[in-house]
Amino acid sequence: MECVLLGSGGMMPMPGRFLTSLAVRLQGQLYLFDAGEGCQINLKKTKLGIKSLRVVAISHLHGDHCLGLPGILMMRAQVPEVGPLTILGPPGIERFVRQIHESLDFFLNYPLVFLEWNEGCPEAAYEDDLVRILWGPLKHTILCLGYRLEEHPRPGKFKSDAAKALGIPYGPLWGRLQRGEAVTLDRGDTISPSLVLGPPRPGRKICYAVDTRPSKVLYRLCQDVDLAFLDGMFLPEHQEEAVTKEHMTADDAARVAARAGARRAVLVHISPRYTEEDMEKFADAAKKRFGNTDIASDLRQFTIPYREEGL
Ligand SMILES: [Zn+2]
Ligand SMILES: [Zn+2]
Repeated sequence: MECVLLGSGGMMPMPGRFLTSLAVRLQGQLYLFDAGEGCQINLKKTKLGIKSLRVVAISHLHGDHCLGLPGILMMRAQVPEVGPLTILGPPGIERFVRQIHESLDFFLNYPLVFLEWNEGCPEAAYEDDLVRILWGPLKHTILCLGYRLEEHPRPGKFKSDAAKALGIPYGPLWGRLQRGEAVTLDRGDTISPSLVLGPPRPGRKICYAVDTRPSKVLYRLCQDVDLAFLDGMFLPEHQEEAVTKEHMTADDAARVAARAGARRAVLVHISPRYTEEDMEKFADAAKKRFGNTDIASDLRQFTIPYREEGL
């Protein structure tokens, strides 16, 4: 699983820092979290491609998180015979896209599927053959959704010694057992995959939560993830402003990551007021709370290994 930040800033795109958008790639498929203005420029730079984009999950209807969506939709329409695209977001996301599509009358050659969050909707917003995406309302000046992407668990490790001891011939039967299917041997007995597989291995998990104060929902979405992308908009010296504008400081975010048991955190949505020289202060403030925290920069890539492979 690869995560690439197409941008890492908040409020407005800056020459050295685009707006926070996160692309997640798994088995060649792409999932995008937020679409800041101009995010297709860095998406092109990553060479991830847009054809395989399955989902765009929008946190909220503040311009710095959704104004890049029309550009993404138009860019994807340049691919012939591209499949449907699912758009997750708060109530109003469908109206926003439909209105802009109607006003600009741009070309679309694929269907859009909208899923809007509402009070009482299931915590799992989306599921396909690879992942499921959970969502929940955070604590911001307007309804803002946090997301958690979970890779499906994988079958346990194949125990070749056990297979040999059971007299299962090496070949296609091993493959089927490895995929979790029961097989029948020539001599007539049926072998259950549990006899040759270890316990199921958990999939990788990430959290994407921007524009929020610490909250119960945030902790839940962040619980035990391999990597948490968290709003760390302000330095601790601007704590009061973080509270009023409902964002987090670097140490707020690092504290959430540590308490929620995240393995690693990346602070995003950095305020445009700070310069590159301030980034050290961000890192210092965050690392005091949680050592495994990085301060985001555009196009930074994070590879998430399986847990048994270590970090
Ligand atoms: Zn924002
Ligand atoms: Zn906002």
